[in-house]
Amino acid sequence: VIFGRPGSGKSSLAERLGADFGYRLVRTGELLRDAVRRRDFLGQRVEAHVAKGDLVPDPLMFELLEKSLTAPVAEKLLFDGFPRTIGQVHRLETIQQHLRFEIDAYLDVAVERDVAVARMTGRRVCPQCGATYHLVTHPPRVPETCDIDGAPLENRKDDRMEVVVFREDLYDRNAPEMLRYYQERHAERYFEVDGNQAFEAVYDAARTALRLSS
Ligand code: ADP
Repeated sequence: VIFGRPGSGKSSLAERLGADFGYRLVRTGELLRDAVRRRDFLGQRVEAHVAKGDLVPDPLMFELLEKSLTAPVAEKLLFDGFPRTIGQVHRLETIQQHLRFEIDAYLDVAVERDVAVARMTGRRVCPQCGATYHLVTHPPRVPETCDIDGAPLENRKDDRMEVVVFREDLYDRNAPEMLRYYQERHAERYFEVDGNQAFEAVYDAARTALRLSS
């Protein structure tokens, strides 16, 4: 499970770890954006929450998440964006019991708020595969085009400044309690990396912490 404030780079890190070490990414933000694009019943109900940068209510979030997980869990999963609150922590424990999987590691990508906010202007995402880019720190090979599938990149609606501030505030309200819970209960599986560094340094620190060698 990977944690980090909006703009921490946790999603770029998750993508890279997924590609290099064979994890299937379980990304709640991406599941939600897909539902919004499909404009199905659930998508319509979550759209306003996501656009505001607010948390999607738990019943909807759980429904969407649980649809994407099936037993037996044969793959290695990497959760990106879930859990975000102590309530979601407990739901994840229930899911674990039902689907019988173990969580090997909790990785917190710790970044100062100002650094994170600065990074979020310039972010681009691929509407087709969800890959994330940054105009300065992680540009695509062809400007405004996804390296993976060639789709034109988009801005995220929730990367507008007032929405960014809202999302950071929400993180500051919810994350400390959740992270403390894991630090206290799963100290031997809890790792923190300094996400203020350049991407490659964060990636190396994460690999070292998780004892992943290429
Ligand atoms: P970030 O971590 O940068 O906010 P994400 O792509 O993970 O980006 O999430 C985007 C949005 O999706 C959030 O602002 C929120 O509206 C919604 N969302 C994602 N994960 C959850 C979750 N676990 N619970 C509720 N809402 C969520």
